Amino acid sequence: MYYPFSWLKSCLKLVLYFFSFALVGWYVDALWVLLLLGVVMLLATNYWHLYKLNRWLWHSRKMSPPTVTGVWEHIYEGIYHLQRRNRTKRKELSGLIKRFREGSEALPDAAVVVDANACIIWCNRLARLDLGLKWPSDAGRRLDNLIRHPAFIEYFHADNFDHPIEVPSPTNPNKTFEYRIMPYGEEHLLLIARDITRISQLEAMRKDFVANVSHELRTPLTVITGYLEFLPVDSQENPMMAKAFNEMTAQTQRMQNLIEDLLVLSRIEASSERIYEHVVDMPVMLQQLEREAQALNKDKGHTITFHVTDGLKVYGVETELRSACSNLVFNAVHYTPPGGVIDVYWQQTAEGVRFCVADNGEGISQAHLARLTERFYRVDKARSRKTGGSGLGLSIVKHVLSHHNSQLEISSVVNQGSQFAFVLNRELLAAS
Ligand code: ADP
Repeated sequence: MYYPFSWLKSCLKLVLYFFSFALVGWYVDALWVLLLLGVVMLLATNYWHLYKLNRWLWHSRKMSPPTVTGVWEHIYEGIYHLQRRNRTKRKELSGLIKRFREGSEALPDAAVVVDANACIIWCNRLARLDLGLKWPSDAGRRLDNLIRHPAFIEYFHADNFDHPIEVPSPTNPNKTFEYRIMPYGEEHLLLIARDITRISQLEAMRKDFVANVSHELRTPLTVITGYLEFLPVDSQENPMMAKAFNEMTAQTQRMQNLIEDLLVLSRIEASSERIYEHVVDMPVMLQQLEREAQALNKDKGHTITFHVTDGLKVYGVETELRSACSNLVFNAVHYTPPGGVIDVYWQQTAEGVRFCVADNGEGISQAHLARLTERFYRVDKARSRKTGGSGLGLSIVKHVLSHHNSQLEISSVVNQGSQFAFVLNRELLAAS
């Protein structure tokens, strides 16, 4: 039961205490001696209570305080109340931690928490199984001393956790893990490692399948095209046959384009070529591309102008960059109505080097822009078929640019024209 403490009552008690000593002292004619005795007794009582408090706090196992009265009762009650409150809080917190741990043990992924010094604070059971961590002996050890894969070390120290990375499992090389790091709280990091072995196997199977099918279809198509070239068809004598023959030639040509593009895409997807190994002489490559574009332009009558800064060479994969640039230039030639104006730029900017193809063609409505780089996505299917397009051109561009750490920027206004551009980072600039 809590009684509010009254200073007035305490003071009154003290005054009464000394008054009774003073009264006795006056009566026996030793006032100062009795008052001194009163002070000594008061001090002794308080020291006795301090001694008891100290024993209770440090040596007693009992939670409840000893029975005392007066001011000391309030002090004991206060401490007891604080202790009880702390105990309830501690219980609540340990319950919360227990529930959190149980929840994270139920996670289907390995989870590790590290502090600002990269030392492990906690990990779940899957982290112990899949990442080979030992608990509790690895608590407090640096995570980058325990997971030693170079790709992980680079990712961990790069301090850029926007994208996850794929790394073989440290305990089983046949398994592939996706590591994702999420910073939180006061410079803490949460590492989530997900087993993506099945997904990466399926992805590899898909890539192999497309590459193999495209490769296998190439030979029969070459044979068919070869025979079609030799077939003698007289359009005067047999106009029906001539029409069918022309259609067959056009369709086989389309299939050949499609297969070539699929093979290019597969090659780029599987490419492990390093972009910093070779210098690409872009001005020379663009000169050749200009000649090809002019040849394609014969019956279109566009005005095609190349604005190329001399000596602007970059590090990269030549075949890939050629494929990306030619796709953008040929698209402009194909999708701009006859007599259009096409400008191609290769110039240095503050961020790096910019390649841009601008045309004054029919343009593309905003609704299509976000999906243009998807495989086989076409704005006007019939139109693309007529141009012989495979629907893979911009997809190839996207992959090439992603390999060169860049991305395609498309801006377009219907009936005014389109701009397809990309910027290669300053780091890729090679000395001319
Ligand atoms: P395709 O092989 O059909 O040309 P792409 O992936 O190269 O496939 O292009 C996708 C679609 O984007 C095309 O079908 C076309 O509709 C549109 N497109 C591409 N370039 C241009 C352009 N310069 N002007 C207008 N539309 C374009």
